[in-house]
Amino acid sequence: MTTHSQSRTGASDPSTPAPAARPAPAARRSRPARGEGQWALGYREPLNANEQSKKDDNPLNVRARIENIYSRRGFASIDGGDLRGRFRWWGLYTQRKPGLDGGKTGALAPEELDDEFFMLRVRSDGALLGAEQLRVLGAISTDFGRDTADLTDRQNVQYHWIRIEDVPTIWQRLEAVGLQTQEACGDSPRGFLGSPVAGVAADEIIDGTSALEEIKRRYIGDPEFSNLPRKFKTALTGHPSQDVAPEINDVSFVGTVHPEHGPGFDLWVGGGLSTNPMLAQKLGVWIPLEDVPDVWEGVISVFRDYGYRRLRSRARLKFLLADWGVERFREVLEEKYLGRTLVDCPSPPVPTANGDHIGVHRQKDGLFYLGVTPTVGRISGTVLSRLGDLVEEYGAAGVRLTAYQKLVVLGVEEERVEGLVAALERIGLSTRPSNWRRSTMACTGIEFCKLAIVDTKDRAVALVSELERRIPDLDTPITVNVNGCPNACARTQVADIGLKGQLVLDDDGNQVEGFQVHLGGGLGLQPGLGKKLRAHKVTSAALDDYVTNVVTGYLDERHDGESFASWVAR
Ligand code: SF4
Repeated sequence: MTTHSQSRTGASDPSTPAPAARPAPAARRSRPARGEGQWALGYREPLNANEQSKKDDNPLNVRARIENIYSRRGFASIDGGDLRGRFRWWGLYTQRKPGLDGGKTGALAPEELDDEFFMLRVRSDGALLGAEQLRVLGAISTDFGRDTADLTDRQNVQYHWIRIEDVPTIWQRLEAVGLQTQEACGDSPRGFLGSPVAGVAADEIIDGTSALEEIKRRYIGDPEFSNLPRKFKTALTGHPSQDVAPEINDVSFVGTVHPEHGPGFDLWVGGGLSTNPMLAQKLGVWIPLEDVPDVWEGVISVFRDYGYRRLRSRARLKFLLADWGVERFREVLEEKYLGRTLVDCPSPPVPTANGDHIGVHRQKDGLFYLGVTPTVGRISGTVLSRLGDLVEEYGAAGVRLTAYQKLVVLGVEEERVEGLVAALERIGLSTRPSNWRRSTMACTGIEFCKLAIVDTKDRAVALVSELERRIPDLDTPITVNVNGCPNACARTQVADIGLKGQLVLDDDGNQVEGFQVHLGGGLGLQPGLGKKLRAHKVTSAALDDYVTNVVTGYLDERHDGESFASWVAR
């Protein structure tokens, strides 16, 4: 590949320290042995301000203060520790003060970045959203969020411009239709990813819906699991396309078939991106559907008790896995938390089909599901409400969100499919998108995110539009993931073209918004981390040309059937 002038490129009680884990084998343990704040090794005293805040008061308790004090007295009354810490456990982040450019982010104090408005995240946990739920989600946006609503790659709905005064009313409306913001953010079990076609796909291995519902019922809001070392991401799918990005979650249950026992789930642990990307490690086991919640509890308990709490930059489960290795992890899980051994089973094969579910597909019951794309997850309250109306009007079962900032309308009768396809198109949701629109994602970016260095959503929308004009007949999906900073919320390292926002130099030597490029990463069909090519830095203004050049090079040079990632790896 050449591009213009550049080169190729259980059970334990957290208050009672458990017995120490056996030390990891020396060969795997390169860093000196010192406490990392693991509760299970007796480190109960907080080693940093975040740990202190969680110890001082369980973050779930902040809801009462929001309802009884802050929403009545206004933004100025909010305690700083609650505002920048505990609010997250209820899905609330302050949004970025307008007008701050990316270069200023690191130099300002937290209070200088905070706007008086909030981002609010609603978790869907892979559940089916009916017409009424969609209309409630839409009305909250139009009534309280200036008609903003983004679909995230974790199947959440994200609002902006929320005022603290309105939060209790929003909770009442959401909870009246079975939705919640609890633990949508924070050091907690965040929103789950579930297969958007669970229970309906003709080629499904196993329907995991009941397991996700049970995990949610038992553990979300349970104080036993509301003080984790950091966030904990869950994914579960019984679909052979592995449609929930299981490679990059802390814990994933992935459909598999045991030769004797039949369908069940393999267990993958320790995936995550950000600044130290790691793909999940596969245990190679078989877990029956009814055991999934107990095993989930075991895995999150290992994380809670043995996870590193000294440095937040090392507090995700992936760092424990990197030090322990998967065999040691399995041993601790089985011996200390499950009290039994798991059944061995080869891990499921790499998928052979794309798992974004875009287009019209027949269900196993003869009805159809329609996978549709907004552009880079950006919709609105108006569209959500209209979507609810269409679900009712066309007699569909409901809508599930996807792990790719898209959505799927399920349970449509055959004779109503074409009418619904046209109606969805009229509100900007296409079943037949270009490959550019289908495969581009963007994080929140500088418009609202305090950590952002560059604009992402608007930039990605413009990029898609320009690429559709320049290369309208692209015949294969090429994933483009646009991120506003190194945190990789839109998965920088697992895209064909992953873009990490940073300041770069333009031709005149000025610092301007731009991106570090990672090439050739992927999930599903060809999982792997992309190459970070130091020479591939591009200004935001030159992004259209950069992507055009790279993709044109691929299209000119590819062999029959060769993927973008394989071409990059040549
Ligand atoms: Fe914000 Fe960075 Fe995440 Fe984008 S990647 S949403 S800029 S933290």
